[in-house]
Amino acid sequence: MLSHLTDQPADKILELMKLYRDDPRPQKIDLGVGVYKDADGKTPIFRAIKAAEKKLWEQEETKSYVGLIGDPAYRDALAGLILGDAVPSDKIAGAATPGGTGAVRQCFELARMANPDVRVWVSDPTWPNHLSILKFMGLPTQSYRYFDSETRAVDFDGMMADLAEAQPGDLVLLHGCCHNPTGANLNMSQWQAVVDLLLKTGATPMIDIAYQGFGDGLDADAAGTRLVASSVPELLIAASCSKNFGIYRERAGLALAISQEAARRDTHEGALAFLNRQNFSFPPDHGTRLVTLVLTDPDLRADWASELEDIRLGMLKLREQLAAELQAASGSDRFGFVAEHRGMFSRLGTTPEMVERLREDHAIYMVGDSRMNIAGLNAHTVPVLAKAIVDTGI
Ligand code: PMP
Repeated sequence: MLSHLTDQPADKILELMKLYRDDPRPQKIDLGVGVYKDADGKTPIFRAIKAAEKKLWEQEETKSYVGLIGDPAYRDALAGLILGDAVPSDKIAGAATPGGTGAVRQCFELARMANPDVRVWVSDPTWPNHLSILKFMGLPTQSYRYFDSETRAVDFDGMMADLAEAQPGDLVLLHGCCHNPTGANLNMSQWQAVVDLLLKTGATPMIDIAYQGFGDGLDADAAGTRLVASSVPELLIAASCSKNFGIYRERAGLALAISQEAARRDTHEGALAFLNRQNFSFPPDHGTRLVTLVLTDPDLRADWASELEDIRLGMLKLREQLAAELQAASGSDRFGFVAEHRGMFSRLGTTPEMVERLREDHAIYMVGDSRMNIAGLNAHTVPVLAKAIVDTGI
């Protein structure tokens, strides 16, 4: 039986990580994998997470099962962080999942359970794993224009024209903030226009929010999601705690189903619990418990938010420095978008050949679609990158 298995396509980012590791050049710069790194190239554990782990170690008395949706306190705390008071809690169904990827998968599963013919609208481009999961599940996809390769901003007219074709029973996948892989995001009037269009077409939105706090701040990054949540009849949300709590390997995510009809809540949560049971039964607990401890303890929460804010401001500073260095090196404003983009990523908007030349000639590693991880830079490497980009003729 197993002899029928064939090799799966290699993951491009993991391949790039290996190339980077094997590169002997000491000046090499890794802008590939989507993990936050500080100026020393380390991915730190947040102080509040460390403190919560200590507290948990002291207080936890059992490792017995919790429940199929995880601890409801986690659902409430994280839903509160994302939604603020945009939606009353009696309209929010949720279940903990293994990471944001698990949440994405469970939201797609829920949509398919509700509508076996669901068609999923995805931005062009989107996080490649969205497409991979949808293909694996056999769900049809439709892409909508998103990135304007000239301006490196959102092609909003294209997006609206394409999404006007969405229909009731379709799922429209949006990125809550810090779009991966482009870094280009909707402003609030554009979010409002998207809401109006969703109401007009009757399609159901799903928001993937994996970088809350990495863009313009914890509340600002959730503002689009909150607007959608308070305006449309129903919404799915897939949230990740990997980046903003720095707990990548703990696998803490949350799938939310919001309905303006409060009477539907229990059915929706029951479906999420059922889907967890079919796929992995109980979700991982450790990471979600740390998140709950941090969010529900005022001191830990304040400390976490302040450390996250430092991280956010650090990335913003790198963006501004890079945009300034690029302007100086190129004598033009064409790289201004680097300072406009938000989150960990920016799509440079160049060809795979140029990306390869940056790697071969300058030991600078970025994903083939020219996505750069801004957090892979520091004050010393920014001018090196700017010079390499301009010298390569990008
Ligand atoms: N959605 C997007 C857009 C992402 O970039 C990521 C992380 N790469 C995720 C979801 C999920 O991350 P994780 O499963 O590690 O929580």
